[in-house]
Amino acid sequence: KVVCVTGASGYIASWLVKFLLQRGYTVKASVRDPNDQKKTAHLTSLDGAKERLQLFKADLLEEGSFDSVIEGSEGVFHTASPFYHDVKDPEAELLDPAVKGTLNVLNSCAKSSSVKRVVLTSSIAAVSYNGKPRTPDVIVDETWFSDPDICKELKQWYVLSKTLAEDAAWKFVKEKGIDLVTMNPAMVIGPLLQPTLNTSAAAILNLINGAQTFLNFTLGWVNVKDVANAHILAYEVPSASGRYCLVESVAHYSEIVRLLRELYPSLPLPEKCADDKLFMPTYQVSKEKATSLGIDFIPLKTGLKETVESLKEKQFVN
Ligand code: NDP
Repeated sequence: KVVCVTGASGYIASWLVKFLLQRGYTVKASVRDPNDQKKTAHLTSLDGAKERLQLFKADLLEEGSFDSVIEGSEGVFHTASPFYHDVKDPEAELLDPAVKGTLNVLNSCAKSSSVKRVVLTSSIAAVSYNGKPRTPDVIVDETWFSDPDICKELKQWYVLSKTLAEDAAWKFVKEKGIDLVTMNPAMVIGPLLQPTLNTSAAAILNLINGAQTFLNFTLGWVNVKDVANAHILAYEVPSASGRYCLVESVAHYSEIVRLLRELYPSLPLPEKCADDKLFMPTYQVSKEKATSLGIDFIPLKTGLKETVESLKEKQFVN
């Protein structure tokens, strides 16, 4: 039982590697720099890693870079993709690694004789930015696709990168006959295994580290352990197919702050919204497909507590 995880040092991928090792898989894991202890020590110290974790060097932008990590793997989990909002050159920093990187990985899968299924970490970002209104009665589901023109209009470059990458992946696998399943998680929270700070955990850290205001933004939220498990189920369950929205609840930042205040009354949480417009309305995201896969979502409040505890333990909290 050999599988491959790209971008293995990342927030989601680290949990995925941990759970795969726990389930007895041999994991071929790609990182950009296998000699960077900061990126690998938390992986090589996982239970089962000594016997069944192999690290490979691979970069999304180097053609053929993933050939050796993919050859011999029956399952490929492609998680690597940059997730930042603060970019100077969206093309070079986000779009190219996301789109060309995904095609690069899929090309290696097409060449290999071992790959049975590819699970791609896409995002709810590739689902919900299509200009349709999102109000409390609207249920976003897997039939929604984000519209690249709208992403460009909104200058949402990360959202655009995920939208274009997933679209390119579906086109490629249709042509080459590869079995692909995509995971479309919302903002991921929960404990960090890696020592560095990732973008979604940083959104919570920002709130508890003295931010004066919270964003007037409504987002879906999901626990990292559920996301990692969903990846594995998407690989293991023969009937899994298409896309899976992974969202436990949809909540405005004011609600996140309210829950954090309930959990940590003494933390200096922001009182005010960043603008004085009406709060962006909430909406629903279908859990039907994710539930059918076997996911029983961890509640948002538990995820927030786990995130804060983990950020404290790793000394990110002021
Ligand atoms: P992290 O930033 O923790 O992980 C991103 C990973 O991508 C890192 O391992 C990073 O490697 C790798 N990577 C970035 N650029 C390159 C490159 N040029 N070549 C090789 N590897 C590269 O983020 P997350 O764990 O949060 O994200 C993982 C995936 O999940 C991404 O596809 C992201 O879009 C998706 N996602 C995340 C959500 C979230 O809220 N966290 C929500 C929905 C989807 P390195 O360590 O070397 O930098």
